[in-house]
Amino acid sequence: MSGIVVVGGGFAGVWSAAGAVRLARETGRELPVTLISPGDDLVIRPRLYQSEPERMRVPLDRILGPVGVRRIAGTVTGIDTTGQAVTTTGRDGRRADIGYDRLILATGSELVRPELPGAELLFDVDTLPTATELATHLDRLPGLPPGGGRFTVVVAGAGFTGLEIATELMDRLGAVAAAHAPGEKVRVVLVERADTVGPELGPGPSREIADALAALGVEHRLGVSVAAVERDRVALSDGTQLPTHTVIWTAGVRASGLTAAIPGTRDRLGRLEVDANLSVDGVPTVYAAGDTAAAAAEPGHRVMQCCQHALQLGKFAGHNAAADLLGLPAVPFTATPYVTCLDLGSYGAVFTNGWDRRVVATGEVAKERKRKVNELWIYPPTDDPDELLRQADYRFSVRQITGPRAI
Ligand SMILES: Cc1cc2nc3c(=O)[nH]c(=O)nc-3n(C[C@H](O)[C@H](O)[C@H](O)COP(=O)(O)OP(=O)(O)OC[C@H]3O[C@@H](n4cnc5c(N)ncnc54)[C@H](O)[C@@H]3O)c2cc1C
Repeated sequence: MSGIVVVGGGFAGVWSAAGAVRLARETGRELPVTLISPGDDLVIRPRLYQSEPERMRVPLDRILGPVGVRRIAGTVTGIDTTGQAVTTTGRDGRRADIGYDRLILATGSELVRPELPGAELLFDVDTLPTATELATHLDRLPGLPPGGGRFTVVVAGAGFTGLEIATELMDRLGAVAAAHAPGEKVRVVLVERADTVGPELGPGPSREIADALAALGVEHRLGVSVAAVERDRVALSDGTQLPTHTVIWTAGVRASGLTAAIPGTRDRLGRLEVDANLSVDGVPTVYAAGDTAAAAAEPGHRVMQCCQHALQLGKFAGHNAAADLLGLPAVPFTATPYVTCLDLGSYGAVFTNGWDRRVVATGEVAKERKRKVNELWIYPPTDDPDELLRQADYRFSVRQITGPRAI
C-alpha cells in the first residue's frame, strides 16, 4: 500500500499528516503517511515580517518523526492523477516517482511579483530566504553613504503584510540608524494602489490602523503604485521619485502553481475547488488543504489564505483522506469563527472578530494576543507524539492548550 502522500511542509501539510496518523492510530490500523517538502523545517511564515527571520522555523522531523511520518526532502514537479504518482526532484537533483493512494496537496501560496523595470531589486518577506535577505540588507544600510535615503524603506501594498512590515520597520530601522547614525532620519513609506489603507480589511479596523500609522510616523501614498525601481530610488506612478535603497513588495498572493497539475477547477486565487470533505471536485483521490484549497468556511464565505484556516483544513484533510482509505465516514469541514490579529509594531495590534472584522481589542491587549498567536499557538508540539496527536484532532481548539510550550 502506498498510503497517503502529503505535498508541502507548511501548517496545512504538517497537520494533514498528523491528522491522518491520528485517525489510523485511533482505529488501530497501519497507514503509511509520507510528507514531501523541499526544506527540513516548518517555516513560521506569518512571522517573516519580524526581525531574525532565520529563527522562524521548526524541524519537521521533531514534529512528525515521533509519530512515524516518513519525510522526503524534495520538490514535487509533476502529478499524475490517473497513475496516482508524484514526480519529485531531490536536493541532489535526482528524480523519483512516488505512488499514492490518497494525495493531499498543501503547497501553500506565493507572492505574485510584478513585471516592472527593476523588479529584480524588490525585496519581500514571503519566504525564509527572501526575508533573511531583507534582514541582511537592513543590517548593511549603515555602510551606504549618509543621506540619499539610506534609512528610507518603501513598502508596496498596504494590505495585511504591508501594514505589519511597515509598522514593525519603524522600530527595526530606527534601531539600526540609532546605533550607527544617530539623528539621521528614518522613513517608512507605504504605497497603495487603492484609495484607502488596508483595502481588503474593510472599515472595521481602519481607525485603529490610521492612528497607528500616524503615531509611528509611517507615511502613506494612496492611489499610486510603484512604477520602476533603481538601486537608489523608486519612481511612483504619479511621477514622484523617492530616494531609497529598499523597496519591499507585498501586494498579491496566489495559490502554489502546483495546483495547475490537478485537473480541477481553480478560483481567481488559483485555489482548487473542493467539496465539503476537502477532496478536489472531480478528482476524489486528491485532497487540498491550506492556501491551495477554495473551501467553504460558512455560508457565503470561503476560507481565507491564513494560518487559522490552514491549520484546520489540514486536520480535516488528513482525517478524511485516512477515513477514505480505512472505509470510515468523512467529516465535513467546519471552520471556527473567523478572527484576525494585525500587528501594528510598537503601537500595539488590532484584534477583530467575524468577516466584517469588528474590533474587539486594541493596544497592549491585542498585542499580547498577537504575541501568543506568533510565539505559542501556531507552533506545533515538538518531540511529543501524544500531544501532537491530541492537537491533530479536527475537534481540537486552541483554547485547550494549557501552559506555554518552548519554541
Ligand atoms: C509575511 C507574512 C505574514 C503573514 N501573516 C499572517 C497572519 O498574521 N495571520 C495569518 O493567519 N496568516 C498570515 N500569513 C499567511 C500564512 O502564512 C499562510 O496562510 C499559511 O502559511 C498557509 O499555510 P500552508 O501550509 O497552506 O502554506 P505554506 O505555509 O506556504 O507552506 C507551503 C509548504 O509547501 C511547500 N511546497 C511548495 N511548493 C512545493 C512543491 N512543489 N513540492 C513540495 N513542497 C512544496 C513549501 O516549501 C512549504 O513547506 C502571513 C504570510 C506572510 C508571508
